[in-house]
Amino acid sequence: MQEKAEKYLKVLVKHFEEKINRDGKITKKFATTINCMDGRVQEPVLKKLKEQFDVKNVDMITAPGPNLVLSENKEEHLVKSIKESLGVSVNEHGSSKIALVAHFDCAGNPKNKKGQIEDVKKSISRINEWGFNVKILGVWVNSSWKAEILDI
Ligand SMILES: [Zn+2]
Repeated sequence: MQEKAEKYLKVLVKHFEEKINRDGKITKKFATTINCMDGRVQEPVLKKLKEQFDVKNVDMITAPGPNLVLSENKEEHLVKSIKESLGVSVNEHGSSKIALVAHFDCAGNPKNKKGQIEDVKKSISRINEWGFNVKILGVWVNSSWKAEILDI
């Protein structure tokens, strides 16, 4: 009797897990940010992307100065890590909207705004070479810690 009850309970749990997964997929809306690890830029970027893309969730891929990492393409382990994380975000979460973020006073990329924006452009070209079919925006977080979409 107890064995039967346990079996029934397992079936019931499985049923609800499947239902939650199904419902989760319907409401699951993701965007992705490739952002600096700097704590000052996380919240402004999150806020901006939720507005810009009308999504519920933003996957956060972080590295110190990712625009320098990707434009130089020298630090292989970091580039690989960003690429793999982006793969999970795109393939598992269905994200198709990506933001590459640069910011004022970046310790990872000490160039001025103009230089950093050049690096953002190069980084976007690099990501496009990876073959994910995604739209990539450039974002700049200014000295007032507000995120702006770059017109590049
Ligand atoms: Zn930074």
